Amino acid sequence: ASAAVFPLPDEAAAAAFAAAFSDGLDAPLVLWLQGDLGAGKTTFARNLLRALGFSGTVKSPTYTIAESYPLPRFTLHHFDLYRFSSPEEWEDAGLDDLAGGGAVCLIEWPDKGGAYTPAPDITLTLSHEGAGRRAVLQHHTNHGRKSLEAWIK
Ligand code: ADP
Ligand code: MG
Repeated sequence: ASAAVFPLPDEAAAAAFAAAFSDGLDAPLVLWLQGDLGAGKTTFARNLLRALGFSGTVKSPTYTIAESYPLPRFTLHHFDLYRFSSPEEWEDAGLDDLAGGGAVCLIEWPDKGGAYTPAPDITLTLSHEGAGRRAVLQHHTNHGRKSLEAWIK
């Protein structure tokens, strides 16, 4: 799949990027959030929820594994599999029910769920670049491609 690269030099740029991403977003959709600790995955989820009109607190789901947000257009589930010691924890936590519910699913540390983690429509890979970050977007399905149409031809 073709990729689009976005420099995110500061927090304002990261917020604008998430807002632009929210425009083409439609459920159901699986978005993998990739990158090291501190790369900005949770910050992206927080900025995206703000852009989608959610005004409450966005907690990092590192300890709860999943947080759900009912929004006007769809429900968004934010997963963080960082603390998984084995992929089977996906089943133990009942995440299939959440992921199969037609929502938008953002998944941090998707690799830790192994084959249980639903395949991505889109991957967002974040990395450090100077004091800021760099974002790479890729689509992996037709639905993902349509969501990114404004950015990736
Ligand atoms: P992750 O979820 O990938 O571990 P976080 O989203 O928790 O990372 O971000 C870690 C830190 O990086 C936070 O303090 C956040 O404010 C900062 N940060 C995130 N995105 C940017 C950016 N584009 N530019 C500068 N700092 C950022
Ligand atoms: Mg995080």
